[in-house]
Amino acid sequence: ASPKSLDLLLKERTYSAHNYTPVPIVFDSASGIHVTDVDGNEYLDFGAAYSAVNTGHNHPTIVEAVRAQYEKCALVGRGFTHSLYAQFCEEVCKAFGFERVLPLNGGGEAVEFAIKLCRAWGYVKKRIPRDEAKVLMVAKNYHGRLLGVTSGSTNAAARANYGPFVPKVGPAYGDGKMLPFNDLEALEECFELEGDKIAGIIIESVQGEAGIFPPNPGYLDGVRALCDKYNVLWCADEVQMGSYRCGPKRWGYENTSSSKPDVLITAKSISGGLYPCSVVCSSSEIMDSIAPNSHGATYSGSPIACAATLAALKVYEEEHLGANVAEQGPHMLAELARLSTTYDLIEQVRGVGLIAGVDIDVELLAQNGMSVWHVCMFMRAMGIACKQVHDKTVRFCPPLTVTRVQIDAMIASFEQCCQTLLK
Ligand code: PMP
Repeated sequence: ASPKSLDLLLKERTYSAHNYTPVPIVFDSASGIHVTDVDGNEYLDFGAAYSAVNTGHNHPTIVEAVRAQYEKCALVGRGFTHSLYAQFCEEVCKAFGFERVLPLNGGGEAVEFAIKLCRAWGYVKKRIPRDEAKVLMVAKNYHGRLLGVTSGSTNAAARANYGPFVPKVGPAYGDGKMLPFNDLEALEECFELEGDKIAGIIIESVQGEAGIFPPNPGYLDGVRALCDKYNVLWCADEVQMGSYRCGPKRWGYENTSSSKPDVLITAKSISGGLYPCSVVCSSSEIMDSIAPNSHGATYSGSPIACAATLAALKVYEEEHLGANVAEQGPHMLAELARLSTTYDLIEQVRGVGLIAGVDIDVELLAQNGMSVWHVCMFMRAMGIACKQVHDKTVRFCPPLTVTRVQIDAMIASFEQCCQTLLK
């Protein structure tokens, strides 16, 4: 890193918990897809804060809405309500196609609430015996890092030293089998064995942190059918893949199935990356299972969160970002596929809409004394900000405002990376 960056990275290393290993780009300012670091270096952002800035960094319409709201009223706590809350609830419900909404802050927080909502519905409506309700997940899921969701994780590193865990949450069923993603036979076996005690199943519509794994054709429709058959709530985790990431439609499940979940969980880009806001949406019948004063948070549905979300919802429509995904996404994926057939560095490319997971031949890299980290560092040197997912995959996930020229710039850099690293 160059001088100012190095100074800050060293200080960060000294005072920050070592809970992340960031690519050493120290953002100073950002606008749209453009990022400038503290030393004045410029990058195209192909990370988009893990899909939290789909509208582009600091979108002026959202910045203005947030600024105006700051000048009026920032926080009321949940003991009172405020002038934007009713409009926020109505617009979110109507735009997302559900009857009720409960806002929170982060994505993990929203999934935690979905677990509680499933349990409450399971006891109140499905009449599951007390303390026996199970909330299913699939293997290799990522739903955040809070304790409830970590309890359902199959990532050993994420679990190490954090037990004991919340019981009856996660992909284990039968005599210790793990329910895989994209496996309807296993799901039916699981429901057959335990369906009367299962309140809900939480699934990412496209698995993100596992390395960008889209659902097989028919998988989510099959989940819908099995959930109907066994009276289980299908909860779609659209935290990363929602807000047109998989476009042209708003939700990942809409772009990959013709079915609708019972519970929608989303966060990140619904507020354009300007302020945390997450939501859980469902029918009134499901949401009415929770008792008053039994769930919420001080900042949830705050005036600022509502202002940011209402403005961001407008930006998606006014700028036709879903249509841009439909236009640019296939080009990005086709170009990455072309590189994969040309260069040994790339093993496989997966993706949908404007998100791609590129598997790197890590053994070949290791023979040359390198890892995926070197790919990200090469890209950094070329002015492209991107980050690996696990040890094998690089994620390309630009803001949805990305142009063909910017995609081609990323592809040209990646092609140079493919040519240079294994020379
Ligand atoms: N669910 C999914 C599918 C995610 O990708 C993420 C974040 N990467 C989360 C939940 C957690 O969201 P947050 O980091 O806001 O808690």
